[in-house]
Amino acid sequence: SCKGHHRAFAVYRPELNKYSVQRLSLMSELRSALSEGQLSLYYQPKVLLADGRVSGAECLIRWIHPVHGFIPPDQFIPLAEQTGAIRDVTRWALTEAMRQQQQWSEAGLELNMAVNISPLDLVDMQLPEMVASLFSEFSANKGGLTLEVTESAVMSDPDMAIRALDKLKAMGVILSIDDFGTGYSSMAQLKKMPVHELKIDKAFVLDLATNSEDQVMVNTLLGLARHLGLKTVAEGVEDATSLAFLKQAGCHKAQGFYMSKPLPAAQFSDWLKQYQS
Ligand code: C2E
Ligand code: CA
Ligand code: CA
Ligand code: CA
Repeated sequence: SCKGHHRAFAVYRPELNKYSVQRLSLMSELRSALSEGQLSLYYQPKVLLADGRVSGAECLIRWIHPVHGFIPPDQFIPLAEQTGAIRDVTRWALTEAMRQQQQWSEAGLELNMAVNISPLDLVDMQLPEMVASLFSEFSANKGGLTLEVTESAVMSDPDMAIRALDKLKAMGVILSIDDFGTGYSSMAQLKKMPVHELKIDKAFVLDLATNSEDQVMVNTLLGLARHLGLKTVAEGVEDATSLAFLKQAGCHKAQGFYMSKPLPAAQFSDWLKQYQS
């Protein structure tokens, strides 16, 4: 996902990951990255399949390192989880998302912001408080907040997760199960989860146009969601055929490179103007 629009930055060297000393130094640098503004959010539109409107954006974190260049989240989020720095990363991402949402709101754009949270955030009971204080800080926003949580987060400690999710739900947060279909979810647990939405992982969507097994899987996942009364989002939509398939199959929203790659805020609003005209 870091091809193309990031060509200007040096490519992150995967060998860095092999050496724990370098990983450690990367982790200590993450602290300064937070304070020195090396992190940024990119925004990828979510489109309503019924009428094509853009309902909001997923906020995806990027680290532009002064030496290593572009470091994708898959490379540093797991490290941040291991060291506990994830709490600060999540706080930063939530604050930045709501600040940007407010700025767009003042410019007449009401967008729902979807922020990824780590499994660890869900067992950290500070998350509902953190969100509550951001809601009072950015009270003018009407677009709403979605939190994307992976299945594993919910299934690792279901009781704990349910308590946190219940609090967030009561505050009006939309809860979405991310990477749906890739984990080991228990259907019995899923039924009890206070979530609104299932997000079908791109693994089932990327080849939807040509792969009949993926078509069966997506139909099955959409059927399951329908029976549970949940909304659905498909990520990884890369072509018109897949988009049409999802619409016809009753999926609610779509997200993917076919509409747009994740973009920096200014480019996102340019894209939106173009899209709406
Ligand atoms: P995810 O939540 O499953 O996010 C979707 C990933 O799919 C993103 O990769 C996105 O750029 C990519 N994607 C979207 N549409 C397409 C498409 O049409 N084709 C293809 N091939 N890919 C597509 P990204 O931005 O590299 O993020 C990777 C993962 O890093 C995310 O997976 C999420 O788990 C994690 N992540 C990103 N930002 C944050 C954050 O702020 N906090 C936490 N905890 N995790 C984050
Ligand atoms: Ca996500
Ligand atoms: Ca995914
Ligand atoms: Ca993920």
